[in-house]
Amino acid sequence: MGTKGRSIVKMDIGRVVELLNKAFSDEWLAYYQYWLGAKIVSGPMKDAVIGELMQHAADELRHADMVSTRIIQLGGTPVTTPKGWLELSNCGYDEPADPYVQRILEQNIAGEQCAIGVYQAIIEEVGLKDPVTYNIALQILNDEVEHEEDLQSLLEDLSSLIARHG
Ligand code: FE
Ligand code: FE
Ligand code: MG
Repeated sequence: MGTKGRSIVKMDIGRVVELLNKAFSDEWLAYYQYWLGAKIVSGPMKDAVIGELMQHAADELRHADMVSTRIIQLGGTPVTTPKGWLELSNCGYDEPADPYVQRILEQNIAGEQCAIGVYQAIIEEVGLKDPVTYNIALQILNDEVEHEEDLQSLLEDLSSLIARHG
């Protein structure tokens, strides 16, 4: 990163990189969980759910890209192995062992709720001490809030469908 760009970071840069690498790990695991979920999901409203899961997978990959760009600007190195993702992740990986649509939605809702907490915490810790990281975290937080809402509304539609048709 440029010297002026670095000089405006008013907190330990190593700590910012640590926060970002943990979030980066979450994003890759979320990407794979959505990607695989879209392949295997089964049950009512499958097509609508697949469309949403694929969109979210693409968003999580874009988030990994945004976070890694900032890590590199700060002089850090994005986590280099999938094993590292599991070690550093805040939210972990929830294996979609049961492909039933309701279960997949519930797992991904829990993942989004975790992600919302992660970016909220980054925003609180970094604040105006690193406005560039703050801005990236805020953009991603907006997406995660939207993701949670999308999945919860699909789950509501699914529940009313099941209630009507038994
Ligand atoms: Fe994300
Ligand atoms: Fe998300
Ligand atoms: Mg969506």
